[in-house]
Amino acid sequence: MKSYDVIVVGAGPAGLTAGANASFRGLSSLILEKYDFPGGLPVLLYPDKIIKDHPGFPVGVLGKELSRMLFMQAKNAGAEIRCGEEVLKIERKEGNHIEVKTTQDIYRARRVIICTGIFNVPRKIEALKDTNSPKIHYKVEHPEVFKDKRTIIVGGGDNAFDTAAQISDITKDITILVKDKYAKAKENTVKLVEGLGIKILYNTEITGVLNDEAGEIEKVETTNRETGEKNILSADELFVSIGFEPVRAFLQNNGFEMLDDGSLKVDKNLQTNIQGVFAAGDVIGEVRLIVTACAEGIIAAIHSFETIKKPYWLH
Ligand SMILES: Cc1cc2nc3c(=O)[nH]c(=O)nc-3n(C[C@H](O)[C@H](O)[C@H](O)COP(=O)(O)OP(=O)(O)OC[C@H]3O[C@@H](n4cnc5c(N)ncnc54)[C@H](O)[C@@H]3O)c2cc1C
Repeated sequence: MKSYDVIVVGAGPAGLTAGANASFRGLSSLILEKYDFPGGLPVLLYPDKIIKDHPGFPVGVLGKELSRMLFMQAKNAGAEIRCGEEVLKIERKEGNHIEVKTTQDIYRARRVIICTGIFNVPRKIEALKDTNSPKIHYKVEHPEVFKDKRTIIVGGGDNAFDTAAQISDITKDITILVKDKYAKAKENTVKLVEGLGIKILYNTEITGVLNDEAGEIEKVETTNRETGEKNILSADELFVSIGFEPVRAFLQNNGFEMLDDGSLKVDKNLQTNIQGVFAAGDVIGEVRLIVTACAEGIIAAIHSFETIKKPYWLH
């Protein structure tokens, strides 16, 4: 069985930074990623978005580029990174080590850092949950699918508004449906979108779909949540960005204490209820950003290092 000082679960921003910083401190580290590629959400969900709020990039940086740089940094630091290998079980064993079982192998670690993120599955609109149409998009992989299309964007957050701005010059027209009275997106993004002439309907949600003869979505029925008024809107393409379902099963099945919002409970050193198992990033985050995920990855790596090199029972 292969042994490492630190095994990191997940190769998103938190995991890549945790692995890099464990390696910088001379610990042998292995990062395990269930997808065939590293990078986490920035490469999975918004590879071509220009991230504007990450420190150190005055004109922004593409999601895929930032992920690539984090990956290269972890690799150059000496971390071993294995993709396409999902972690299934984490178990503390007699003799003060932790066993990590994956889809391919079983490893032994002195410390584990969980960086699985929490949002892997996009939340679906109730009225569309049984519809499996290619016209419904949960991420923008190829912006050209919206070219010359009447596009409806559902969601009031940054991603919905950023996406509207991103595809505004190629679509036929865009309508954003925001279920609340206000959008949660940053004020300057909302102003930018308004300035582009994009229609925003507040208090509005999709309550039904109308299909064409071929059984494809042609129109949607919307309802104003305040007045109850119904409307029919033509829709060539729909982009839905209303959040993500928390992935609880993996953590619960491994005996981790969770908070009500589905995140992992940790102490001030980012240690979970299982001794020697730390966590970082969205999986614990109150503020869920790349920079905080990276910072927590560093904190978890430092505490892993300190507890290996200076165990508390020697103090
Ligand atoms: C649409 C959208 C836009 C965003 N825009 C911004 C932005 O502009 N700026 C910003 O700072 N933040 C943004 N964020 C937030 C940012 O993406 C996250 O805060 C960040 O990715 C969290 O990093 P993480 O490493 O904790 O988790 P993730 O990026 O989710 O990475 C977790 C990784 O763990 C892997 N994994 C999960 N379970 C297992 C397992 N059992 N075994 C092995 N691997 C596993 C996953 O496949 C994934 O690769 C955005 C988020 C979304 C959804």
